[in-house]
Amino acid sequence: TSAALKRRGLAFFRSKKALVHNAKAVMEVANAKRLIAVVKANAYGYGDTWAAKTLNQELGVKDFAVATLDEGVRVRSALPDDCDVILLGVQPAFLADEMAEKNLSPVAGSFDWLLAAKKAIDEKDKKLPALKIHLAVDTGMGRLGAKTRAELASMYNFVCAEDCFELAGVMTHFATADEDNQPYYDQQLADFMAMVKGLDIPEKYCHVANSGSALYHHDEVPTDTIRVGSVLYGYNPALPDRPSPIELEPVGSLVGQIWGVHRLLKGESLSYGATYTANEDQWVGTIPVGYADGLKRTLSGMTVLVNEQEEKILGRVTMDQIIISLREPVAVGSEVTFIGKDQEKEIKIEDVAEYGDTIPHELLTGISSRVPRVDV
Ligand code: PLP
Repeated sequence: TSAALKRRGLAFFRSKKALVHNAKAVMEVANAKRLIAVVKANAYGYGDTWAAKTLNQELGVKDFAVATLDEGVRVRSALPDDCDVILLGVQPAFLADEMAEKNLSPVAGSFDWLLAAKKAIDEKDKKLPALKIHLAVDTGMGRLGAKTRAELASMYNFVCAEDCFELAGVMTHFATADEDNQPYYDQQLADFMAMVKGLDIPEKYCHVANSGSALYHHDEVPTDTIRVGSVLYGYNPALPDRPSPIELEPVGSLVGQIWGVHRLLKGESLSYGATYTANEDQWVGTIPVGYADGLKRTLSGMTVLVNEQEEKILGRVTMDQIIISLREPVAVGSEVTFIGKDQEKEIKIEDVAEYGDTIPHELLTGISSRVPRVDV
């Protein structure tokens, strides 16, 4: 048992081996030569510098993507200088000088954004390195990007013409790659390719494939580069609708310890709202985990594993503690698996997400900083 788990009663275990396996497997199935590893939101909860360094050191991955400037600064500082860090989300253009100085590559969503970025760089009284720009094309996500060939052309020409910029990529993002909506996907891809080809932008700059695209549309992915997140972390964004075409290894498991074991008598109730009442005398256990750790309130009633037995969260999840059923009294310090394997039994994150009426991304990114991350 890890010291962190003993001290906190809860730990998020993560496996470098699984991360590397998944990265290799997805590149193979998508026939990709270059991986842009999406490590935003603390690498979907696993630890951004941990994931980035692992992929760089073990597989030589040099391209990473985050959402915000501060995420970018942190990830950049953990990586060798020859790596690139893309800022995927819309950024404030007045900080373009800082992005250039720190070698972070923003996604430009419009011509106006580029104008404002150039102004911020020009106003700086020292010569900055060229800002590496990824041009966004909006083919159906509706968040950012050029919508017409004319707009993309003006952005492309501007970036190529100005010394303060360097073209680093052209991208779009799919809205339905992991869903049964092939026409929408096809339309997005066709629109993107038509715009890029129409402007003769070399294909080496293009990156479009997210996890759903790499897994389910690999024959249609027209570029050598994939830009994926969830699949790296070992879960299938399309479950329960579609099985994964490759063997994915879950990278993380969430495990707690039972710190209190006691008897709940027939007719006694527990937790806020007293929503659970014992029908007969029963054993219960208290675990120091709650919604402040990311175990959402909607997971009240979910199944957990104790000594390979299925038990249930009784009553409401509170901020810091939950109570679970116990078939028999167990030792204080016994482990409880919320996500992951307990010997032969397993609780999959996809099943937990379905139970909690959410998606794995939301659960993982919700695992708070109060939960120690432990390497296995
Ligand atoms: N590209 C962009 C622009 C994104 O916003 C995301 C994540 O939402 C990804 C790629 C990675 O998506 P996925 O985790 O489905 O691979």
